[in-house]
Amino acid sequence: ATARATEALQRLVVDVPDFPEPGIVFKDISPLLADHDGFVAVIEALASHGRDGAGAPVVDKVIGMEARGFILAAPVALSLRCGFVPVRKAGKLPRETHAVSYALEYGEATLELHRDAIEPGERVLLVDDVLATGGTVRATAELVERCGGVPVGVAVLMELGFLDGRSLVGDLPVTSLMTV
Ligand code: AMP
Repeated sequence: ATARATEALQRLVVDVPDFPEPGIVFKDISPLLADHDGFVAVIEALASHGRDGAGAPVVDKVIGMEARGFILAAPVALSLRCGFVPVRKAGKLPRETHAVSYALEYGEATLELHRDAIEPGERVLLVDDVLATGGTVRATAELVERCGGVPVGVAVLMELGFLDGRSLVGDLPVTSLMTV
């Protein structure tokens, strides 16, 4: 299953040089999402990181970061038979939130999470498309902790190895289907 996911990533993710600004190679996953078999393969590979050796889900919530994280985290949550929680950019969530600001590979951002989105003690899997500097993942893990939740892992399609996002993320286990 992992081999099919890796093959799909290699074939269907398009490198777009100098987007959204010069020097950034943007990983465009939209052709992958448009391919049913490829989409299924990567969702199942991501979801496997929320299961134990016997295949039983070990997480209570799957959290996805705006915007591409939503597209991946929601079907991962369904596959793991648990709830999906969105982490959004500042000003989008309508009720009381926790907020964390952080530096991006390009620019700066603030992420928010509804205060009641995660129950104290709940185990949370973080899902996104790309791990770059690790700032997004670190901020999201902090938001989960502010709710009293326990981030148990990070599952991403790709990590940009040269940015070493893992060191910023720290002890939280990161699994990526592909390192570029
Ligand atoms: P970072 O916080 O630096 O780890 O950046 C990760 C976030 O930015 C993810 O939500 C990605 O969707 C997005 N991102 C960063 N770099 C890229 C890239 N080269 N291609 C596509 N998305 C990226």
